[in-house]
Amino acid sequence: MTDLQFAIFDLDDTLYPRDAGVMPAIGARIHQYMVERLGLEEERARSLRQTYLARYGTTMRGLLVHHHIDPEDYLQYVHLVPLADLLRPAPRLDAALSEIKAEKLIFTNATREHARRVLHTLGIERHFTRIVDIRDMDYRSKPHPAAYAKLLELLRARPPACLLVDDSARNLWPARELGMITVLVGDGHPAEGVDFVIEEIAEISEVVKRLGV
Ligand SMILES: [Mg+2]
Repeated sequence: MTDLQFAIFDLDDTLYPRDAGVMPAIGARIHQYMVERLGLEEERARSLRQTYLARYGTTMRGLLVHHHIDPEDYLQYVHLVPLADLLRPAPRLDAALSEIKAEKLIFTNATREHARRVLHTLGIERHFTRIVDIRDMDYRSKPHPAAYAKLLELLRARPPACLLVDDSARNLWPARELGMITVLVGDGHPAEGVDFVIEEIAEISEVVKRLGV
């Protein structure tokens, strides 16, 4: 038995399959923002984005540091994607979440508005008690260590009481370092440095059963 209290889920590419195409749609909006709002040439926008992603983990942090953008304007702009065309209700996931007794919440580098739209489109919003979003992290997104410290502070939780599910191993490593139980979702990933690997998110209830909670 563990003392698992919180089942914490990343949102994008974790609660729905990567091939749904939501992230490429958001990526296209980010590019459009850099070209239209900041007036950058297409090629310049592409190369800066790669530079910022490599250096800061997100394009947004690079734009905040070097272009002094308004983060709220940026976040609203880039999340304007046609979710209803890309996502469908997920009844298997809905059933799997029902089997998890721990408190369930979302921990996302996106906004709570985007998270609510995704959860609503998947038909699983009723399971989640709260959304910890990019603003709650003071715009310091996963995998920055400050994001996890903020999460634990908001939940008043000890790391071993937390299970974290994410499609990015890079986002799980800092959590495991702290002592959280980590689950990588999606195939084709290197699985080093995580506790469990599942191929699709509906398998999460099996992991929780194996933990004996
Ligand atoms: Mg993700």
